[in-house]
Amino acid sequence: MVVDKAQKAEKEENLEIARHSAAHVMAEVVQSLFPEARFGIGPTLENGFYYDFDLPRPLTPEDLPVIEDKMREIIVADLPFTREEVTREEARKIFAAQPYKLELIDEIPDEKVSVYRQGSFVDLCRGPHVKSTGEIKAFKLVNIAGAYWRGSERRPMLQRIYGVAFETEEALTAHLKKLEEMEARDHRRLNRQLNLYITPEEVGGGLIIYGPKAGRIRAIIEEFWRQEHFASGYELLFTPHIGLSKLWEVSGHLDFYQENMYSPIDIEGKQYYLKPMNCPFHILFYKSQVRSYRDLPLRWAELGTVYRYERSGVLLGLLRTRGFTQDDAHIMCTPEQVEDEIAEVFRFSLHMWRAFGFEKYKVYLSTRPEKAIGTEEQWHKAEDALRKVLHEQGVAYEVDEGGGAFYGPKIDIKIEDAIGREWQMTTIQFDFNLPERFDMVFMGKDGLEHRPYMIHRALLGAWERFFGLLIEHYAGAFPVWIAPVQVMLIPVADRHLDYAHKLEAELRKEGVRVKVDTRSERVNFKIREAQMEKIPCMLLLGDKEIAASTVSVRLRSGEQLPSLSFAEFKQRIKTVIAERVNELRL
Ligand SMILES: [Zn+2]
Ligand SMILES: [Zn+2]
Repeated sequence: MVVDKAQKAEKEENLEIARHSAAHVMAEVVQSLFPEARFGIGPTLENGFYYDFDLPRPLTPEDLPVIEDKMREIIVADLPFTREEVTREEARKIFAAQPYKLELIDEIPDEKVSVYRQGSFVDLCRGPHVKSTGEIKAFKLVNIAGAYWRGSERRPMLQRIYGVAFETEEALTAHLKKLEEMEARDHRRLNRQLNLYITPEEVGGGLIIYGPKAGRIRAIIEEFWRQEHFASGYELLFTPHIGLSKLWEVSGHLDFYQENMYSPIDIEGKQYYLKPMNCPFHILFYKSQVRSYRDLPLRWAELGTVYRYERSGVLLGLLRTRGFTQDDAHIMCTPEQVEDEIAEVFRFSLHMWRAFGFEKYKVYLSTRPEKAIGTEEQWHKAEDALRKVLHEQGVAYEVDEGGGAFYGPKIDIKIEDAIGREWQMTTIQFDFNLPERFDMVFMGKDGLEHRPYMIHRALLGAWERFFGLLIEHYAGAFPVWIAPVQVMLIPVADRHLDYAHKLEAELRKEGVRVKVDTRSERVNFKIREAQMEKIPCMLLLGDKEIAASTVSVRLRSGEQLPSLSFAEFKQRIKTVIAERVNELRL
């Protein structure tokens, strides 16, 4: 077991060295194509490498295969990489025409620096490298992008070429296929097809306007979310979007979190802040009454919309926004209840993820960091509860020792999507800070005041990110129970319209979301459009169907189901919706 791990690590390291060597080879080719090229840096990435260049003209996608071919020639030639140690003075001479390299040399504190040569190319580099270019196996150049020198908007914009490299052609092909799938599933791309939301410039970056389809989806999911929360012993809270500066002083947000908050709004000389979190409001409600141990646990949930400052450069569709709705909850309990509460939150989380079709997940436990508040006993009890629950449920987890927040340990659940990517979604976080700051207490059996344990829990995380995940996981083909339109009725000719409207009314009465395509278009055109919209079922209605009271069902996958009576179809679709099945099956 241990050996396997070591072997795997060595393999990874070799691959990384080969990737970085491929960056040098790419730079050699770029130099031969553009003798006046100036070079930035060329490090490795998770699956590949990049190099930044300052070039006399913009690169185009057509340049990539040309560069690749020349790289292959160098690889076939199996040129050796040689390392040389030179003084900084000598290095300055070697790179006299390379201002970016000179800037890097000036920052190296050592007297000696190393350079690597292969073929006609020389680079300032710490290494290591492969022995010769022949050791670079399967690679491909995948993308060109602009990148500021040293990531600073005040420095020149360079051109970056991204490449990927693997040990074998098979591994490369598999990776490229995954990239293609990621591209096809990209929620921003699918959104252009499905017309779910907009992010208009006039509103501002990272602020989302949802259209009717997304609105319907959100309403369905929220309704389900509320039902499940009530069924699991939660109550709902609704809280304002802004709160006085005093509140955020007590909570500590103005001391520790202000750089993530928006500037205050002045009302009657008082400063109000947009809320970055919902917790302080929940705590105030807790404190609005005397709480006894008999009242605990309290489980209070809220779909709370919060606002946090994110730099415009990091905003990313639905995945990174400035305004988002957390599916938040706070659990206040006695020390004796901690373990049961954690077990219940964990069970509930997995139950919810399963309902949306996610079965695979990974769990991470983060423990006490060096600097922490709260007593030894609190930390011990909380960490113990977290470990014990994971143990009892037979869940494998990774421990990030010392990786917890200063105010408490936590469990993170990362959800695996259809193409194997991990998404950080659920967090179950203890908090020893806010109960202290707000002086939260409950009356114990002993008649004395005690501090409750407080757990923050975001289950789906944020609605925006969750919606992004749903779109990408299902590639826009939402499960039938979530789909904004579940059935599209397609009359073959105008004379079948009345029948279509009759079925529409019957299905709608049964709670099915249904639409009739009333346009005088060809049937195939209407089918294709409904398929593009990823509507789960299409019912084709012509003379034959009307005469026999049957329907001809086509699925969005293109599959044609055997003909069945309308009554049967109605029953079937109702069951599929009630059982939250992804696709209609007979
Ligand atoms: Zn190097
Ligand atoms: Zn909270």
